[in-house]
Amino acid sequence: MIKINNLSKIFQTEEVETKALNEVSITVNQGEFVTIMGPSGSGKSTLLNIVGLLDSATSGSYQLLNQEMMGLKEQEKSKVRKQNIGFVFQNFNLIDELSVYDNIELPLIYNNVSSSERKQKVESIAERLGISHRLKHYPQQLSGGQQQRVAVARALINNPKIILADEPTGNLDSKNGNEVMELLTDLHAQGATILMVTHSDYDASFSQKTILMKDGMVLSEKLNSKKIDILTT
Ligand code: ADP
Ligand code: MG
Repeated sequence: MIKINNLSKIFQTEEVETKALNEVSITVNQGEFVTIMGPSGSGKSTLLNIVGLLDSATSGSYQLLNQEMMGLKEQEKSKVRKQNIGFVFQNFNLIDELSVYDNIELPLIYNNVSSSERKQKVESIAERLGISHRLKHYPQQLSGGQQQRVAVARALINNPKIILADEPTGNLDSKNGNEVMELLTDLHAQGATILMVTHSDYDASFSQKTILMKDGMVLSEKLNSKKIDILTT
């Protein structure tokens, strides 16, 4: 569960002050899949970074899994992050010095998964996302779309309770984008709570609720009509 109350974030540089988030309140219930949409610069990434414990808010409060995160020490934040959060970054954030295999494996090492299970899980998710033949490569040797799939694999490999995804299909063609959305849908079906930023109405249709942001504020929230599975007989 993600509960955000009146969260604000001000970026202060020498000359300008930017209010990236202005009293944002959002609740994502346990097991819910929520999308955030909104124009560039509306504060979507800032919000996700704070919820993902990679940045801190200026004021307000927020709880993850019923625990207050405002004021938590770095070390405690890091623990919550590693144990519970899978984060798909807009700019991938892959570790250049590590191979694709090692990048994807990292969350499993943090969580003390045995090496045989790690191998099986890395190979299985790489297969699913069509990057099996790239496991020995390094991030710089990959296309943008391949890097994005590695970022998705790394974020989701450990079945995190909370998934935060910042434009996870932004660099993908529709086939690879669908793989990513299917993976998210599967993890959602298994109980994950998901908060995703996207510009795609199609991707948003996989979620239960869409929140529209603008100028650091929540403009509206709407429930999405259920996707209808087309049954073939
Ligand atoms: P979005 O993801 O919706 O495109 P962002 O959250 O990236 O928007 O940015 C929201 C606002 O905060 C923008 O005006 C952006 O320029 C500003 N901003 C984001 N990160 C920083 C930063 N590190 N320093 C200063 N301003 C920032
Ligand atoms: Mg962004």
